[in-house]
Amino acid sequence: MIILSGGTGTPKLLNGLREVFPEKDLTVVVNTAEDIWLSGNLITPDIDTVLYLLSGRLDSSRWWGVKEDTYRTHEAMKAVGHNEVMMLGDIDRATHIMRSDLIRNGHTLTEATNQLCRYFEVNAKVLPMSDDPVSSMVITPEGKMHFQDFWVGKRGEPEVLEVRQEGIEKASISPAVLEALENEDEVLIGPSNPITSIGPIIELPGMRDILKNKKVIGVSPIIGNEPVSGPAGKLMTARGIEVSSCGVASYYSDFLDHMIIDERDVVDEQKFHKYDCSVSQADTLMKSVDISSELSGIIRDIFRNM
Ligand code: GDP
Repeated sequence: MIILSGGTGTPKLLNGLREVFPEKDLTVVVNTAEDIWLSGNLITPDIDTVLYLLSGRLDSSRWWGVKEDTYRTHEAMKAVGHNEVMMLGDIDRATHIMRSDLIRNGHTLTEATNQLCRYFEVNAKVLPMSDDPVSSMVITPEGKMHFQDFWVGKRGEPEVLEVRQEGIEKASISPAVLEALENEDEVLIGPSNPITSIGPIIELPGMRDILKNKKVIGVSPIIGNEPVSGPAGKLMTARGIEVSSCGVASYYSDFLDHMIIDERDVVDEQKFHKYDCSVSQADTLMKSVDISSELSGIIRDIFRNM
C-alpha cells in the first residue's frame, strides 16, 4: 500500500498501520514542499517525522523532533545573534547534516532518505514525493513568505490571501515514487493538511491521472468545520475550499473512491455521491495507538472489499 503523508496526521495513522500491515509492505510518499535550507542544512520536516516515528525516535508529545533532544547548538547560535526560525535539536541536526552532506556530494533527496532509512533501520519504504525543489509559499497582507516563516515564525497569525506551491510545474514525481505507483494498486491519503501536505503531492504533474487508476481511500483531517490541529482551515478557505470533510473530498474528487470521516461528524452522503465517492464513519481522532490501529483495521477491510 502507498500512503501519501504530511508530518502529523498521517504519521499518527502510520503508528497503527504498522501494527496491522507488515511494515515492509508500507510505502510512504512524503510531502517535501515544507522543506527549507536553514543554517546550511536541508530540513525536511515531514520526512524527518516519518523517519523518527518509524525508528522509535520521535517526540510524540509534539509530533516533531527527536525525543529527549537538547538544543545547545540552537541556543549557542541564538546567543551570537543567529536566530533560526525553527527550533532544531542537536540530535535532529545530525540528521540534517548527514542528509545535506549527501546532497552536497551529488546524491538525490531520495538517495539521502534511503541512506537515513538504513541508518535508522526503518523497514517501510520512505520516499520524498520529488527530488526537485517545491516550496509552499503563503501570500499574506505582509507579503509572500515560506510556509515555515508563516507557521513557525509568525505562528500562523497573518491573514492568508493565497497559497502557492512554487516550483510545482517544473517538478517531477520521483522515479522511486513512479515505480512504487506502477507496482501498487492501493493508495491511502492520510489525514494530513490538504493544501500544504497532500496538495503538493497530488499537484505534481501527472499525479492526479495516475491516481485515477488506483483504489484510493482518504481519511479526513477535518471534523465538523475544524481541522484537528494546524492551519488547514485557514489555508483551505484561502483556496476557496469548504472547511469540511466534503470540502476535502471535493479537492480529491477526480480520483477519490472512498472517504472515511469521523464518527462525530455529520454526513450528507448525497454530497459525497456527487464526487462519485462512498463514505463511512469511524473514530479518526487518534489520541492513542489503539485508536490508530483500529482505524487501520477498518482501512484494510475497506481495501479488501473494493
Ligand atoms: P504537518 O506537515 O505537520 O502540517 O502535518 P499534516 O499535514 O500531516 O497534519 C496536519 C493535519 O492533520 C491537520 O489538518 C489536522 O487536522 C490533521 N490531524 C492531526 N491529528 C489528527 C487526528 O488524530 N485525526 C485526524 N482525523 N486528523 C488529524
